[in-house]
Amino acid sequence: MSAPLTDSPSVPLLRMRGVCKRFDNVVALAGVALQVHRGEVHAICGENGAGKSTLMKIISGVYTPDEGEIHIDDRPTRIESLSHAQALGIVMIHQELNLVPHLTVAENIWLGREPRRGWFVDRARQYDGARDCLRRLGVDIDPDAEVSTLSIGQQQLVEIAKALSMQARLLIMDEPTSSLAEADAARLLQVVQDLKRAGVGIVYISHRLDELEHIVDRVTVLRDGHYIATRSWGETSINEIVGLMVGRELTQQFPPATRLPSAEVLLRVRGLRREGVFGPVEAGEIELAGERLTIRSPRDAIAAGIAYVSEDRKAHGLAVKMSVAHNITLANVGALANGLGFIDATRERETAESFIRQLDIRTPSPDQIARLLSGGNQQKVVIAKWLFRQARVILFDEPTRGIDVGAKYAIYELMDQLAAQGIGVVLISSDLPEVLGMSDRVAVFRQGELASVLETRRCTQQEVMHHASVGLTESSKPPLAALEPIL
Ligand code: ADP
Ligand code: MG
Repeated sequence: MSAPLTDSPSVPLLRMRGVCKRFDNVVALAGVALQVHRGEVHAICGENGAGKSTLMKIISGVYTPDEGEIHIDDRPTRIESLSHAQALGIVMIHQELNLVPHLTVAENIWLGREPRRGWFVDRARQYDGARDCLRRLGVDIDPDAEVSTLSIGQQQLVEIAKALSMQARLLIMDEPTSSLAEADAARLLQVVQDLKRAGVGIVYISHRLDELEHIVDRVTVLRDGHYIATRSWGETSINEIVGLMVGRELTQQFPPATRLPSAEVLLRVRGLRREGVFGPVEAGEIELAGERLTIRSPRDAIAAGIAYVSEDRKAHGLAVKMSVAHNITLANVGALANGLGFIDATRERETAESFIRQLDIRTPSPDQIARLLSGGNQQKVVIAKWLFRQARVILFDEPTRGIDVGAKYAIYELMDQLAAQGIGVVLISSDLPEVLGMSDRVAVFRQGELASVLETRRCTQQEVMHHASVGLTESSKPPLAALEPIL
């Protein structure tokens, strides 16, 4: 046996070659190679379904590969399990949140590794340790707070704090910023820099190629389970990477604007008022196609034809454990009942198949469990559900968050098609190029008030930001009529 090589800087921390993984009839990885060095930030890029998460789950011991070699510190290693990976210093922050909702932040951070004092969990050390990790991240979250009370972004930060507490040598981050606000994402990137300086190897998956700019040393591109290329960041460009990812140059980010909005008002909202976060609307009116609506619950809205596609697909929107077919028909099973009131399974399947074709949902079959689809395809399933429910207005809340460039384009095309069919599309997005590329008009909110409504074709990103962040002077205020967002 050779001596441990752990500290030699020339030896890669991780080296893998010819890695293959199949799930039944799906080839998730077909001969993938990857090398990560100490102090290196290595990005993995690829469209949805490229095999990124599967590769990371192999490195972190969730899956064992069918074929291929893995060397850790130049030693052939079989990573047996998650805990074995952790013992090797490999920690993964998952794309799906894995926290236990009814435990506190501190309990989650130390879950399974609780500091002990005799027979008992040492609560003080647990609390202090959690607080230190959160502080290192620069976030203000109470270690005693129950996780279920936190926002998605905060939960993501707790996941990251948990990984920090494990003192990883190789840290794998799968879309770590996808649900973080701009400031938290920036802080996280700072932490990545610090870890890098401390010699930690970092594998980083992100769809936001722009955010990789300042932190990445090298990038490996996968496509459909195949290894495509590894480039050093200084010698490549975002265009080249995107080209490698999709196998073609992406010249257009958004579909061309071909349709004109109709003059007819579909949705009209006036004087809507609500103090605080919960509770009913206190004043104002909502009209759909000229008809006044009373909306007291999501059920009322759905019955009226208003659907909400949530930014948190997995918690709302999608029944992850159910099949694609059930998800599509879920909100309108009544339409599938036969004469006896039973659901007609053949019709359910035909309905699902027709939407799968129409929306180009990539799934091996209508029976596939929704959880196993890529993010972009899950989003399409949610949209199919509302189309089957005959929604007239669809509210999209950050619909492309955590979705790669190719799949984003497909969602954009779909939104355009919906609008062309006369469905009102409301897009909520913090991605300004997306807002400007996709909308006809932009309603800018600031501190709970509608600041202005802008004609998209006639304004720039800077103008929208300006309206969102600074007050308008009296004279530049648009006339009152323009303040009603009309669809
Ligand atoms: P990425 O993270 O790049 O989007 P994944 O690694 O999640 O890609 O998926 C690669 C392929 O493997 C996809 O076709 C996906 O549907 C499939 N896949 C991933 N996990 C499973 C699983 N547990 N069972 C069946 N198929 C899976
Ligand atoms: Mg993934």
